[in-house]
Amino acid sequence: MQQNPLQTPIEYLNGVGPQRGDMLKKELRLFTYGDLLHLFPNRYIDKTKYFKINEISVNSSEVQVVGKLVRLQDVKHKRGSRLVGTFIDDTGQIELVWFRAANRLKQNLKLNKVYVIFGKATKFGQKLNIAHPEMELLEDHKRNLRTAMQAVYPSTEKLSKANFNSRTMSRIMHSLFNNLGTGRFRETLSQRVITQYNLISKNNALFNIHFPVSQEFLSKAQFRLKFEELFYIQVELISKKIIRKNKLKSYIFENVGKHFNDFYNNHLPFSLTGAQKRVLKEIRKDTLYAEHMNRLIQGDVGSGKTIVAFMSMLIAIDNGFQATLMAPTEILATQHHEGISELVDNMDLRVELLTGSTKTAKRREIHAALLSGEIDILIGTHALIEDKVVYKNLGIAIIDEQHRFGVAQRAKLWKKNALPPHVLVMTATPIPRTLAMSLYGDLDISVIDELPPGRKPIKTLHRYDSNRLRVFKFMKDEIAKGRQVYIVYPLIEESETMDYKDLMDGFESVQRYFPKPEYQISMVHGKVKPADKEYEMNRFVKGETQIMVATTVIEVGVNVPNASVMIIESSERFGLSQLHQLRGRVGRGSEQSYCILMTGVKLSNDSKTRLETMVRTNDGFEIADVDLKLRGPGDLMGTQQSGVLDMKIADIVKDSDILVLAREMALEILNDDPQLLKPENRPIWETYQNISKSKTMWGNIS
Ligand code: ADP
Ligand code: MG
Repeated sequence: MQQNPLQTPIEYLNGVGPQRGDMLKKELRLFTYGDLLHLFPNRYIDKTKYFKINEISVNSSEVQVVGKLVRLQDVKHKRGSRLVGTFIDDTGQIELVWFRAANRLKQNLKLNKVYVIFGKATKFGQKLNIAHPEMELLEDHKRNLRTAMQAVYPSTEKLSKANFNSRTMSRIMHSLFNNLGTGRFRETLSQRVITQYNLISKNNALFNIHFPVSQEFLSKAQFRLKFEELFYIQVELISKKIIRKNKLKSYIFENVGKHFNDFYNNHLPFSLTGAQKRVLKEIRKDTLYAEHMNRLIQGDVGSGKTIVAFMSMLIAIDNGFQATLMAPTEILATQHHEGISELVDNMDLRVELLTGSTKTAKRREIHAALLSGEIDILIGTHALIEDKVVYKNLGIAIIDEQHRFGVAQRAKLWKKNALPPHVLVMTATPIPRTLAMSLYGDLDISVIDELPPGRKPIKTLHRYDSNRLRVFKFMKDEIAKGRQVYIVYPLIEESETMDYKDLMDGFESVQRYFPKPEYQISMVHGKVKPADKEYEMNRFVKGETQIMVATTVIEVGVNVPNASVMIIESSERFGLSQLHQLRGRVGRGSEQSYCILMTGVKLSNDSKTRLETMVRTNDGFEIADVDLKLRGPGDLMGTQQSGVLDMKIADIVKDSDILVLAREMALEILNDDPQLLKPENRPIWETYQNISKSKTMWGNIS
């Protein structure tokens, strides 16, 4: 087989050679012609525009000016000298400055000739100047002008020090295109895709991304390459899903039986929202067939995910299976256990709790009862996935707040029965649907996009620390009405000791202002022993204490409907989704609830945006959108599935419109031809094979 020219080592290219080759490998990880070809520009400079000197300001980005160099002089100063040129046109003059290579420049630059210069203006003292401008005689400039839009490539400090700039990169790129010859890039999409979205050819796109002939062609090239990149990610995700659905069998839940009906008809404490019903139907449908269910439920805080989880468990139980629910913290697991125990009251079902602090004797008892099938529902923390925990017949595994768990932990649950149990993961960190589809790989997605009726929207306020006494007064008024209050302090690991000090100082001042015995205060944080934590939480849940001083350990899931005030200290230090989660701890009852964001006066722009967003809206999806824009998706998702985000040209957030189109196309093609065997899909099959070969597989996404 003929060697693919794109695999040629980069140093063989004209204009590169061993030294530059080494630098490109080290600095930009470019090893081959192909790597170079796919080094896409960060931006483009419009060189169709020429500035007059009196139009230039420090705010201009790079400017291009036609004028004359009328003087060159060395200016000595303490640490050396610089070369200063005076450049004029018919509107004024500007200084050009060089700190290096003065002798060579003095030899080469010609006074009183017309030059085209290019660079960025800065202010030095009172004068505007351009340091190290690109200089070209007007006559050469006219001859050399190839493209109007000039590419600016990613660079590094070392590269720019070695004078390896975008122009050098463009020259090398030119040499690459000369070497490969135009018209050599094979089409990587099928005719149908190209026609449907009116795409330019691969060949054309690659040329125009590096050497755009016009803004219009640049846009077309960008669209085509982004579309292609997103399309192949979708092809991979959807293919995997198809394979999983065909190959991975799970248990069939044929019956909706005794427990489900009994609960639905006799014990359901409220009527389900439309969204809850819809999601339950989706789950019901998934589990009617032998296909394995792997479904994500996205729902804002308080949207009522727990009851949906519980009723799914009942379906499993009605078909002779056990169910399990895993939560990220002990507090949350305990609360789920209490809530669900209440729901199964008089239902002849056995529910148990297993966490890190379950006593050995109890633990043994649970292990045995689980194996014999006496336990119907097991709720717990990570303790659930230990090898010692063996179920008689696990049918469904539910994971709450799934972003807190790693892929490996979730995978362990899959192995808890001969066939993998059906899996339901729940998250209160909603993200746009298309993004979720890409980030969570082959999960199916359900959305609970409706809050239970009768909720009053939480009022959110931003207050400065100097107003703390008024905030305390407000707390007193609310407590007098019978309400309860959370006060949350940040706890960020690197500065742990400092944070604990803040927490303790805060606790003391709260104690001073809210003295015993009139007021009772609970405190929980990471250093409190689990048993004490539980004790304090319980006192707060029962209403024995009015104030809960805490760190973010209470962030997820805790449900105390009578708590109506959430005070967040140093709120500028929290991320948006965390703030939203914390706020979700109130607004769970019928009373008006408040969230008060305390800060100092000094705030960064990002902090201001976060606070303003919180004050403006209660909508978790909207908040997630802002969060994505502030932080990018990488942060949001943690370390998982980084492969999906490792893109060369597309941006999963900014290009979400293109993502939708790419996904639709991929779905259409794969639904019709799941294995890409049809002749018309040949280019797609080939390209997909090449992509799969060239990258390490992302592992099992679940
Ligand atoms: P989350 O989605 O944040 O986990 P929960 O499942 O904890 O929300 O539900 C929040 C509160 O809303 C709970 O007190 C729950 O009993 C209540 N709830 C859930 N669904 C409904 C409903 N359809 N009508 C009224 N209240 C509901
Ligand atoms: Mg919850």
